[in-house]
Amino acid sequence: MSEDELASFKDLGLSKKLISSIGKLHFKKPTPIQLKSIPIALMGRDILGCAQTGTGKTAAFALPIIDILSSQKSKARMPRSLILAPTRELAEQVSIFFENLSAPHKLSIALLIGGTPFSEQDRKLNKGVDILIATPGRLIDHINRGNILFNSLKILVIDEADRMLDMGFIPDIEQLMKKYLK
Ligand code: AMP
Repeated sequence: MSEDELASFKDLGLSKKLISSIGKLHFKKPTPIQLKSIPIALMGRDILGCAQTGTGKTAAFALPIIDILSSQKSKARMPRSLILAPTRELAEQVSIFFENLSAPHKLSIALLIGGTPFSEQDRKLNKGVDILIATPGRLIDHINRGNILFNSLKILVIDEADRMLDMGFIPDIEQLMKKYLK
């Protein structure tokens, strides 16, 4: 099947409920990165994706995460997915995307970024978080305070991994992977 023929969200294996939520965002067709990555992500396979800013990469990882996590609930302090972003601004954008889509799917979201109080972040972690979006520094602060356990983690996204590399975060991420995300 050519990409033109396979140009609908309905063909990617997403649930009907999520397709209806996508309709509210007025996305008519999947972008090329969505077309290529969503079916593979839904199979639970690892993906290394490269696409320029503005090509829909947030939805490419967010949509399968919502569908995969929709069937169960998270436990206190045990997030089921982790999205790491290099900057507060990017983490906030990712969080807004999830907030806009996740309400009908009853998924809880927490944003862990620096420059904001720990108290509200602690409260959310304690209630149970399905989708955790964080910058590496604040995530490590919460881990060091004993606020997060990764026993239930199913999905890890490293957003803008090239920028993570440029900003010197890779040793932190390698350390996280070795210690907690095996
Ligand atoms: P991103 O590359 O993730 O920063 O997305 C860039 C913009 O494209 C955001 O405003 C998204 O809401 C929007 N977008 C993502 N996927 C689609 C799509 N399939 N159709 C139309 N707009 C989209």
